[in-house]
Amino acid sequence: MQNEEYDVVVVGSGPAGLTSALYAGRSGRSCIVLEKLSIGGQLTLIDVIENYPGFKRISGPELAKRLEEQVREYNVPIRIEEVTKIVDKGERKIVNTVEGEYIGKAVIIATGTKPKQLNVPGEREFYGRGVSYCALCDGYFFKNKVVAVVGGGDSAVKEAVYLSNLAKKVYIIHRRNSFRAEKEIQKKAFATENIEILWSTVVTSVNGSNFVESLSLKDLKNNREYTLPVDGLFIYVGFSPSTEIFEGVKNEEGFIVVDGNMMTSIPGIFAAGDCVVQFKERAWGQISVCVGDGAKAAISADEYISKMFTE
Ligand code: NAP
Repeated sequence: MQNEEYDVVVVGSGPAGLTSALYAGRSGRSCIVLEKLSIGGQLTLIDVIENYPGFKRISGPELAKRLEEQVREYNVPIRIEEVTKIVDKGERKIVNTVEGEYIGKAVIIATGTKPKQLNVPGEREFYGRGVSYCALCDGYFFKNKVVAVVGGGDSAVKEAVYLSNLAKKVYIIHRRNSFRAEKEIQKKAFATENIEILWSTVVTSVNGSNFVESLSLKDLKNNREYTLPVDGLFIYVGFSPSTEIFEGVKNEEGFIVVDGNMMTSIPGIFAAGDCVVQFKERAWGQISVCVGDGAKAAISADEYISKMFTE
């Protein structure tokens, strides 16, 4: 049973969480990072990053590794331990995990997001048997096969290009007749010979016996329904915040509401990265934004601790 006390407890080890930990460590605060799954969070699922300043091109896992190494230089432990609850005890916050509890003067929530589901028949049944939410993790199983990607945002179009290097053929199935993805990303998809785009089309079911064999599709232009044989389906229809366990600090969509210092309505509890409320102007889903948030949250937490515990 853990019962350790830290100045700052960071929940989540994506770019926001690791940057918070880096800043907390460098400001001389004792800090721990608690991560549910894999160090680096969604970075570990990204094939190539081309818009992170300072790197023309870097893989997600490589950036995660560098960040982790940088954080560990400041003796910040990073543990794989799922957080189940945070209890506000005024000056101290109790962070419960599946293994025990930690005490923090400040907590930074950086739990990010998780992929949204399409919610069509067969999606759940064939998850892991042809249905995937991660091209980098599962793409290799579809070498020389036919796959479809659903969505029209940066994730869908970018991952379709990634898959086109492995699969024989990639369909992008999008419900409208234009993508919302960045123009540079779109250009690559349009120039890739084995990518075919099915505009104004939705998936109505995923079909197969043991493994995915086909998709039922509906062409919204003429209401035509047809079957498309595929070996796999990659779903990229957006992300929702991973904030189920946090009470009293979220908006109706589950995003954590923070002020300009990244502090929630509970003094001493901060949040950073993609789990934070989308202000109208906020470009979420950008690693550089998460990193900025993480730095800001840690600086604010440092100021908060100084004010609360030394004045
Ligand atoms: P997103 O931007 O929210 O796009 C989701 C896509 O899925 C949209 O095209 C949407 O269609 C479609 N969609 C949503 N619900 C659907 C449904 N039920 N059925 C069919 N289609 C559906 O999500 P994202 O692409 O994952 O990106 C999330 C954030 O991360 C964005 O801010 C993005 O810029 C960022 N990101 C950036 C990069 C990069 O390299 N710069 C890479 C990945 C992600 P509509 O267009 O019709 O709404």
